[in-house]
Amino acid sequence: MTAKHRVVIIGSGFGGLFAAKRLKRADAEVTLISRVSHHTFQPLLYQVATGILSQGEIAPATREILKRQDNVEVLLGDVTTIDLSARTVTSSVGVLQTITEYDSLIVAAGATTGYFGNDEFEPFAPGLKSIDDALELRARVFGAFEMAELQQEAADAEPWMTFVVVGAGPTGVELAGQIVELSHRTLKRDFRRIDPRDARVILVEGGDGVLSSFGPKQSRRAGEQLERMGIDVRLQGMVEDVDESGVTVKYRDGSTQHIATRCVLWAAGVAASPLGRQLAEQSGAGLDRAGRVQVRSDLTLPGHDEVFVIGDMIALDDLPGVAQVAMQGAKFSAKKIRARIDGKPEPTQFSYFDKGSMATISRFRAVANVGSLELRGFLAWVAWLFIHILYLVGFRAKLSTLGHWAVAFIGRARSERTFTLEQARGALTDERERRDLEAG
Ligand SMILES: Cc1cc2nc3c(=O)[nH]c(=O)nc-3n(C[C@H](O)[C@H](O)[C@H](O)COP(=O)(O)OP(=O)(O)OC[C@H]3O[C@@H](n4cnc5c(N)ncnc54)[C@H](O)[C@@H]3O)c2cc1C
Repeated sequence: MTAKHRVVIIGSGFGGLFAAKRLKRADAEVTLISRVSHHTFQPLLYQVATGILSQGEIAPATREILKRQDNVEVLLGDVTTIDLSARTVTSSVGVLQTITEYDSLIVAAGATTGYFGNDEFEPFAPGLKSIDDALELRARVFGAFEMAELQQEAADAEPWMTFVVVGAGPTGVELAGQIVELSHRTLKRDFRRIDPRDARVILVEGGDGVLSSFGPKQSRRAGEQLERMGIDVRLQGMVEDVDESGVTVKYRDGSTQHIATRCVLWAAGVAASPLGRQLAEQSGAGLDRAGRVQVRSDLTLPGHDEVFVIGDMIALDDLPGVAQVAMQGAKFSAKKIRARIDGKPEPTQFSYFDKGSMATISRFRAVANVGSLELRGFLAWVAWLFIHILYLVGFRAKLSTLGHWAVAFIGRARSERTFTLEQARGALTDERERRDLEAG
């Protein structure tokens, strides 16, 4: 009896999970290795961060999703090394190390938050990529209102009541919109000293408009909508510095401004998984500025037909970092591997079908581009709602998400406001005090 073809998949995001599912009928042993035990539905992370949804709703256990797929084994582990010549993947959890051999490898390790070479901003301006990030942002946002309530002087409360969101792509716009809704609707009556409606939300963007990937008309309308909601949109502004006192922004006209704030949320940049660099060094593939791997048109590495790179890690034909690119890449690579195992002709070229993009601005308002159709307002929001429910994994999650949306969008409440000081990772304490404590 010949040994089965061994497929290793790295990552349990859109690329990794969908590749595993697509290999359901393959005559192969599939091993999915991920540093997290769940599949994160990243498009709804901002709703976990702002108390609408729980993490369980958008991050079901990978093991549970794949439990009926007998040819898949799920392993927890942070992949530290990929050895292309030995065809092995080394992963670890603490001191426990696992080496897994493969015949075919699908690398779908995604991206992390990018700070354009200013990694020192990270402790003061966390990004939103994972469940940990979303819970930290939730703690920082709700915690900032708590800290404002404790201040004796109104002037001391102000930086706590000033929220700066950096980057006006979909994530930045969605976060800014939700903080306004939170302060105007949910928290309105919850405090005694402060009025949460006094919160300022500032959206800083380096380009000329918000949601620029949606085209000039949608961008302009979205900008107007945000301003009507009371969001202070500052365009052509690059963040020069972030520290515990606030953000320094340099504008294209040469002026510089310091915004005093204790809550900065970073939605401005992405950097591909560092595993991309390992692959590039061993295969000679190029990397773009965001560290994405220049794969061949069939998503494989130069000189390595057996290694596929998909999703947010690839630089190919200017494809965007969106879920559909990862899912379609997963489908294509799984199809190629299946054809290889079955000795059938393999598809040779990956081609991406753009199904459109959408972003919410606030309750009942969104923008959506589908082909040449540009939708906005309530209709776009309903389309957004429908698509997100459709793609959420699991019937239970769909049902409870609908319930939480009713609570937040028809009512005023948020079901998931729980946070701990631990989750705010020191953001709510004085930085000097924290450093002193750490120094003993
Ligand atoms: C806040 C936010 C909102 C978004 N909104 C939208 C949207 O509305 N529409 C849309 O189409 N796209 C959206 N995206 C983009 C979309 O989520 C990504 O394009 C998609 O998740 C990419 O899939 P992926 O499989 O390449 O990476 P991911 O989904 O990020 O998955 C990467 C996986 O690899 C694992 N991993 C990483 N490094 C290692 C390692 N060293 N070892 C083991 N495992 C590892 C991670 O834990 C994760 O499971 C959004 C992204 C974010 C962050």
